[in-house]
Amino acid sequence: MCGVFGIYTPAEGPDRDVARSTFFGLFALQHRGQESAGIAVSDGDRVTAMKDMGLVSQVFDEGRLSGLAGHIAIGHTRYSTTGSTVWQNAQPVVRHAGGRTIALGHNGNLTNTAELREELRGRRVSMRSTSDTEVMAALIAEHESGDLGEAVADAMGRIEGAFAAVVMTERGLAGFRDPDGIRPLVVGRLGDAWVLASESCALDLIGATLERDLEPGEMVVVDERGARFRKLGDRPGSLCVFEYIYFARPDSVMHGRGLHEVRRRMGERLADEAPVEADVVIGVPDSGTPAAVGYARRSGIPFGEGLVKNRYVGRTFIQPDQALRERGVRLKFNALRSVLEGRRVVVVDDSIVRGSTTRKLVQMLFEAGAREVHLRVSSPPIVSPCFYGIDMADQDELLAAGRTIEEVRRRLGATSLAYLSLDGLEATAGPAEGFCRACLTGEYPTEIPADMRLAKLRFEPAPVPVEIR
Ligand code: SF4
Repeated sequence: MCGVFGIYTPAEGPDRDVARSTFFGLFALQHRGQESAGIAVSDGDRVTAMKDMGLVSQVFDEGRLSGLAGHIAIGHTRYSTTGSTVWQNAQPVVRHAGGRTIALGHNGNLTNTAELREELRGRRVSMRSTSDTEVMAALIAEHESGDLGEAVADAMGRIEGAFAAVVMTERGLAGFRDPDGIRPLVVGRLGDAWVLASESCALDLIGATLERDLEPGEMVVVDERGARFRKLGDRPGSLCVFEYIYFARPDSVMHGRGLHEVRRRMGERLADEAPVEADVVIGVPDSGTPAAVGYARRSGIPFGEGLVKNRYVGRTFIQPDQALRERGVRLKFNALRSVLEGRRVVVVDDSIVRGSTTRKLVQMLFEAGAREVHLRVSSPPIVSPCFYGIDMADQDELLAAGRTIEEVRRRLGATSLAYLSLDGLEATAGPAEGFCRACLTGEYPTEIPADMRLAKLRFEPAPVPVEIR
């Protein structure tokens, strides 16, 4: 998970503070990555970049933004995978080659990084890290044509996996999406400016209007000649279904669908599939809330706010001491006794990965006086790892992998447990062909190299559904 943003304003157009627009665009995309943030700008002659560890509002202040003058900008918020909380991995990645500079921000994960890295090394291209983003940036920067569009098109033909990226030179901006469209990227307009963003909520915040999603395998180049779109490949598209279930903000529109509405319908379907007698429906805030509202509406059970979330938790560099760590989940959530005491509670969450947070949540609800805790999950069980840039977990860490629903329920300590079915997901999110659902089915839309697979997969069987008590 990462957030990317890009803006191009004509050099001769009205003065626009592109660094400030990018700051606010990233601010809207903060949920996609809290590890580091960065912005690169160009004034037509020179690319200047600034990046650091932390939230967007921690990395940038008025002083830093005022040092980023120009009419083209890109930005990035990063959610790292394990063990890589280092400045060197913050983006945009900047590379100089052939007398020009490129800056690139990427959301996704390449599956042929090792092979491309070897090839670049053979061409004596120096690399500072092993990151797939640097490989992508190097392929574009080292391209012999010097034309941004040609370099991007060529790179898109070489790289495999999931990617949605923004890239800029001194004179132009480009955005591109992998042939399966696994990670999202939208195009918007702000007067005569072109804007690219991971999600439409970033366009809303800066007052831009959503034009459309960039299509799977499509690229756009914007420069003094205007915007030029080009589609490479004709695969049907496999958008990560977890963008709909959890990742994207509920106020974003993706592939023409408002995500709050989709999640509410998932909750309604869950109420149809897994009804239960109860006194109150609560959601795990924030991402479980729309589905909880849907479940309550369809079941007729009143909706209540039984869990309060500390909205400022984010990532902190101050580690809690042991006593605090043992209380774990209370750093993030607290239970409202007045809503829960003596009640039969339906709690709706969007997904369960390892289950450690869910187990503590269930326990917290009982401690706050809930008589029964019926857990309803608005996605099917996660049974396979993600190779496309979502740091979920390895196969053996996934709670539902190789376990029956009843075994999972016992581990979580809930009174009952039910997940949305794959059919239910299809009925609410859309046809299975339009989505990557690999972590739910084990069927990956692209070839996963054996070494990558072996590192993560243990080929455990999928869980067997059981009747709900
Ligand atoms: S494997 Fe799961 S999390 Fe990863 S891209 Fe596919 S649907 Fe999304």
